[in-house]
Amino acid sequence: MADIQIQNLNKRYGSFQALHDMSLDVKDGEFIVFVGPSGCGKSTALKILAGLEAASTGSIIIGGEDVTELAPAKRDIAMVFQNYALYPHLTVRQNIGFGLMMRGTDKKQINQRVERAAQALEISDLLERRPKALSGGQRQRVALGRAIVREPQVFLMDEPLSNLDAALRVQMRAEITALQRRIGVTTIYVTHDQTEAMTMADRIVIMRKGVVQQIGSPDALFNRPANMFVAGFIGSPAMNFLRGKVQRDDRGLFADAGGLRLPVVEAAASYLGKTVICGIRPESLDLARGDAPALEITPTLVESLGTEAYVHFKLPGQQVATAVAGEHEHQPLGNGTLIARLYDVGTPLSGGTIRLGLKPQASVHLFDPATEQAIS
Ligand code: ATP
Repeated sequence: MADIQIQNLNKRYGSFQALHDMSLDVKDGEFIVFVGPSGCGKSTALKILAGLEAASTGSIIIGGEDVTELAPAKRDIAMVFQNYALYPHLTVRQNIGFGLMMRGTDKKQINQRVERAAQALEISDLLERRPKALSGGQRQRVALGRAIVREPQVFLMDEPLSNLDAALRVQMRAEITALQRRIGVTTIYVTHDQTEAMTMADRIVIMRKGVVQQIGSPDALFNRPANMFVAGFIGSPAMNFLRGKVQRDDRGLFADAGGLRLPVVEAAASYLGKTVICGIRPESLDLARGDAPALEITPTLVESLGTEAYVHFKLPGQQVATAVAGEHEHQPLGNGTLIARLYDVGTPLSGGTIRLGLKPQASVHLFDPATEQAIS
């Protein structure tokens, strides 16, 4: 086990900069997830850590040793990829033990370590099978077994669950998390899936276009996003963004977003009379009770999931706003719609108008429309 320091890492491919000045301190035993949309540089960062790509500038220290120039085999790390790359002609036992055999570990010890890993992964009864007689989930476990038996200082995992179906992904993500906690190996895990990041990570590193946007616990990223990109990327359905004008009345500072009165933090006082972007999570909205202030709106789409419903609305007063969205990114401000996540829907919602308000105590996240940074 080991801590890792990533210091001012840059990666250029010709004139294209895939990674901008990335720095991160990973604690011994920590589970770190790199997350971001396609092309954000997360795999590039992982490959540099593994030694499969050279950094343009910057350094990597693992367990106190500068490994920046070291060959992959000398770094004492194990990688798990999305395509498990198992040897088809070898049994599970031979696949898991292969790396140890190549290093000349003695046979008895290989067997012991393979069996211990197989037990941890609950695949002991599959040891004599070949990969083609395994399900996707079982193959993924064998790939993990191959990493575990090496007893490395660090695990690096690049989208290891992306070839599995939805149900198996949920199961395997819980298993990988539990396994990592049990054996305590420092782990860096790459995914584009914010749910995986939220459920697995001790800390998340969220990236966009080669630039780290924020580093923090799942709770910190969800509740205190540093900018609109993080706010829109973390959480599902995505946060709503509305334009609102900051005003003050006898009840305090608020933003008027198309008739919805959104109480805002005092830090927004410097924006008095100006427009800000108000971020509201879908679960912060609710059907308005009694004569509470409300938006009167007509749902355009109701997606019922049984215990909850996602209700979509068109917002006539809302302009199409900033350019948070790139081709593959979330597009929270793009279409002037609002999504509410309602838990107690009761009457059918499509058709007539409903009155929608902010839940008491709900947070309103504020962002500067020019810089897209949080106002706090
Ligand atoms: P994905 O989820 O699609 O794998 P990613 O976030 O892991 O995306 P990277 O694979 O790290 O993204 O790529 C980051 C950027 O660097 C991309 O724009 C990619 O096209 C570019 N890139 C990666 N490898 C090379 C290369 N060998 N030559 C030129 N550009 C590259």
